[in-house]
Amino acid sequence: MGCALVKPLISDSQTNLENIRAMAYKEVDKFIDLLAPLLEKSATPTLQEMSAHFMQTRSVLLGGIMKTLTEEVTSQYREETHADCPHCGKRVQRKRFDPKHVSTLNGEFDLKRGYFYCKSCEKGFHPMDEALDLAREVHQYDMQEKMALFTAAMPYDRACELFTQATGLTPGKHFGHDNINRIGELTALETVIPDKEEIERRIESAKNGSESLPVLVVACDGAHAPTRSKSGRSKRGKGKWREVKGFRLYLLGEDDRIIHIAGWHQILDSEQLAKDLEIVAERIPQDKVRIALLGDGADWVWSVMTRSFPKGRQVLDYYHMSEHVNKVAKLQYGDTLAALEWKEATITRLFLDKTGYVIGGLRRMDAISTEAKEEIRKLEQPSRL
Ligand SMILES: [Zn+2]
Repeated sequence: MGCALVKPLISDSQTNLENIRAMAYKEVDKFIDLLAPLLEKSATPTLQEMSAHFMQTRSVLLGGIMKTLTEEVTSQYREETHADCPHCGKRVQRKRFDPKHVSTLNGEFDLKRGYFYCKSCEKGFHPMDEALDLAREVHQYDMQEKMALFTAAMPYDRACELFTQATGLTPGKHFGHDNINRIGELTALETVIPDKEEIERRIESAKNGSESLPVLVVACDGAHAPTRSKSGRSKRGKGKWREVKGFRLYLLGEDDRIIHIAGWHQILDSEQLAKDLEIVAERIPQDKVRIALLGDGADWVWSVMTRSFPKGRQVLDYYHMSEHVNKVAKLQYGDTLAALEWKEATITRLFLDKTGYVIGGLRRMDAISTEAKEEIRKLEQPSRL
């Protein structure tokens, strides 16, 4: 749609350069004036002091030059009184100039952009925003990208501190949090998971010429995570714990090497999670893999996974399995030596891959209560791979 709004730079580059040079000299003057405190010191300033001073003040110089350059490359947008509506193509008149404050890695400055309004479409637009690919926010994409690198690796407060130390800029303490939230909102499942062809390629790589089909593990779980309410004018509340549900899919390659396919964790209910998993499952050729469904034994986990992978084999993960073994031992044998013996024997058998013995034993077990019966069912139903 929008490319029609972008105009080529028309004036000749020599004139452009001369204009920028003349304006940049004024910025250099401002920057030089800021050096005065360094020269007023009685002792020779150290290189570190001078470098720290540059770090703090360079955005005055660079921001000024950026502003000049930006104005020069967009001069044709400031002059135009008419523009074509990007929706219907109708020529419309400029309404006004809108100011916009922008912040980049090289400093902050103000821009003036022409605002046009199409009465037929009832939509307004700024052609210059599109030409410059301006972010709607004050902090532009170069800032957002750099900050995302920090916030993906550490808590927001620390990320802001290090960002300031590394760039000399202070974008405000909410920038890190708001930035990563915005990225999160744009990250749809469809864009995160690889396409069909890429998944097929990974399956081939897991197979690595072998006769047998590689194992695809589909793991699903829920966990409680602390959340905070969105920041507004009022003070943030204490936040609350909410259940995050998610799944992870990976292939077992040679020597049980893990080949990642997809990971997806969100605050959502199991119905939505099942729908999300269906989207991933559609991209997987299920006849080219052996499917293992890995879960903690909760009923919702199996039902989410079997909906998308009906032929998958249910596998109780080792840690939850040990927990279930504990529960069965306690319910069936109480606090007795027999309970301990049964528990140890069962876990040893499972460790030695003697799953058949364990399942057989569970099937033969005469449950002493309905509760014990239910736990035995949960443990026996999913078999280990
Ligand atoms: Zn229009």
